[in-house]
Amino acid sequence: MKEILELTEESTKAKTQNGNLNTRKISDIFGENIFDLNTLKAYVSEETYAQMNSVVLKQKPIASETVEKMADAMIKWALGKGVTHFTHWFQPLTESPAEKHDAFFKPTINLEARGIESLSASELVKREPDGSSFPSGGLRQTHSARGYTIWDPSSPAFILETKQGKTLYIPAVFISYTGESLDYKTPLLKSNNALNKAATAICRMFDENVGHVFSTLGWEQEYFLVDERFYNARPDLLLAGRTIFGGKSAKGQQLDDHYFGSIPERVEEFMKEFEYECLKLGIPILTRHNEVAPGQYECAPMFEETNVAVDHNQLLRDVMSKTAIKHKFRILFNEKPFAGLNGSGKHCNWSLSTNTGKNLLSPGDTPGSNLQFLTFFINVVKAMHDNGDLLRASIATAGNDHRLGANEAPPAIISVFTGSLLEKVLSGFWASGLMDVKNPEQEVIDLGLTKIPQINRDYNDRNRTSPFPFTDNRFEFRAVGASAHCGAPITVLNAIVADQLNKFKSEVDALNQKNPDTKANIVTVLQGYQKAVERIVFNGNGYSKEWEEEAAKRGLSNNKNAPAALKALFTDEAKSLFDRLNIFTPRELESRSEVMLENYINKLDIEAKLFLELGHTFILPAAFKTINRLSEVFNNFKSMGMEESAKSLVQENVTTITFLSDKITKDLISLKKELAEARGKEHAIDAAEYYANQVKPYFEKLRISVDSLEELVDNEYWMLPKYRELLFIR
Ligand code: ADP
Ligand code: MG
Repeated sequence: MKEILELTEESTKAKTQNGNLNTRKISDIFGENIFDLNTLKAYVSEETYAQMNSVVLKQKPIASETVEKMADAMIKWALGKGVTHFTHWFQPLTESPAEKHDAFFKPTINLEARGIESLSASELVKREPDGSSFPSGGLRQTHSARGYTIWDPSSPAFILETKQGKTLYIPAVFISYTGESLDYKTPLLKSNNALNKAATAICRMFDENVGHVFSTLGWEQEYFLVDERFYNARPDLLLAGRTIFGGKSAKGQQLDDHYFGSIPERVEEFMKEFEYECLKLGIPILTRHNEVAPGQYECAPMFEETNVAVDHNQLLRDVMSKTAIKHKFRILFNEKPFAGLNGSGKHCNWSLSTNTGKNLLSPGDTPGSNLQFLTFFINVVKAMHDNGDLLRASIATAGNDHRLGANEAPPAIISVFTGSLLEKVLSGFWASGLMDVKNPEQEVIDLGLTKIPQINRDYNDRNRTSPFPFTDNRFEFRAVGASAHCGAPITVLNAIVADQLNKFKSEVDALNQKNPDTKANIVTVLQGYQKAVERIVFNGNGYSKEWEEEAAKRGLSNNKNAPAALKALFTDEAKSLFDRLNIFTPRELESRSEVMLENYINKLDIEAKLFLELGHTFILPAAFKTINRLSEVFNNFKSMGMEESAKSLVQENVTTITFLSDKITKDLISLKKELAEARGKEHAIDAAEYYANQVKPYFEKLRISVDSLEELVDNEYWMLPKYRELLFIR
């Protein structure tokens, strides 16, 4: 208790130290630390500006003279801001982005000055991170270590500052010596290209003037905050990012009093500080609120073009983690840090937009006769039907295994929610094609209270149990885990939609050969997708047992763990899909899947080691000490001649603690054996499956015994902070 009081006092100190951060208008600070087109204007000629504008916004190639002018402009801007170093900022297949700083300063001899600050075109464009220590899934051998990072002009460079100085960060792709991608960004950009090509061709069937199409992404990031002292005292949080043990606290989320509740002051201070930093970096972060579980929160930006949005999510998490430390918090992005409470996701809201500013998934007032909308909408649903397994695989991680199908996250079964209005529109479309009917008049919700303004009811309710609901004018991929790099699922989503659009186009083209009525042919081809669409659409409760049974009847897959889900990436169909779209060669896809498997294996291996270590060094000793203390009590009573009281007071507890300790000891021995077996597997897929099916079940068994023990063991001997401390002290 004393410790807890001291801690609260410390934390309050941390809070006030940072003072009043920001009283400036957001519109004044937004983007002040980025070198985007707006900043560029002041540093280059109109001509160079126009060229960069078409590189960034129109996906035109960049000329080498423009690169030189950009390097000059960038260093001028950076020096003016007091920046001393620069780095390429890239996203290897690890959990966080990578950087290697170099000084602008170069010492010189035979000149008046001792050195100069410069950034050459080649320094801007290409860097060579040495070492072969990034995951490559076999693409790069340790003896052939060369890799390149190459500037991505479509995502603005930015400045990060610490108390001691500032560094210019230049977003970059990361590839091997032989040109294979080693990161998340390269395939994402390639998938954007594939999607642009496919979708633009379809758009031109409706509007000759469409120049290009891009996907948009608005993620919602959920996270937990834990006080740093408690965090540091939990080796599992420290090393695995989640609690592997921990009995339920008497109060959890059952009172529903956290969601959208008043934000605790210390947390709000943290939020304001990281948001301030993000806004300077041009991340349009707009929303903050408490989430469902105690200690859980969410933030969300305004959506952006996908490549920039993905970079922004990576950058945001970096800023958040650093800011949390300043506030003596630790931030948890793990999908399931606490058993029995909601896990954390990162809903990815995704849509398609034309360069003319049209959202292709916006149904408008008359979706039943809006053929362009129906074309894109139905094709996305068809893509989910044909290749939902690939999307499921793209989010298959050890952390997400705890979340998908648990009672608060979407199930591992991929389905699409359309909502009742579009359900009606579709059934009319299957039967009789385009229908020129207006949406029903929006209903007014009348409360009978004259002082309260009247509002219209939306056409559709939301569905929070579907992994892929359609919401207003976008799809929301809700199954993505909070710790995920959203580049991975978005690459796959872009790819499967692009592939479907290409197929659709050839089907329409084939019909056009016989009859030039394109519109009629589009309707015919779309109507041919009815069966597939009906199979994948589910508008009911995705959490229910009945849906699981129904989905099985429909033949939809339900891959409950990562190794099962990842198999979809090893098929010939998957290889040829990504290959024909120029996103991954078969070798690249294989290596990437291999990295995902390795990642899964490593995560489970770390957790297994934690179980063994904590079991022997924290849990069992606490049990033994409690037994000793109880036997002391027993003997004392006996020596006082109170044998009956001695028995009734301690016997039951001693028996239960002994029973549980015995069970834990045996399970630890079996776990150790299974772990050795798993480590001996030669192929990653076999190892991953072994971890999932033979090693992991011991985690669950051990957890039940340890959590029961936690309720009986003397608090003084229980060295691990409990859920109530982790979740309710802030
Ligand atoms: P909710 O939690 O109710 O789903 P939020 O406001 O938290 O809503 O998040 C909605 C997200 O969807 C925001 O990031 C928003 O910018 C994004 N979004 C809205 N329209 C689009 C679109 N056309 N494309 C991509 N994302 C979008
Ligand atoms: Mg949402």
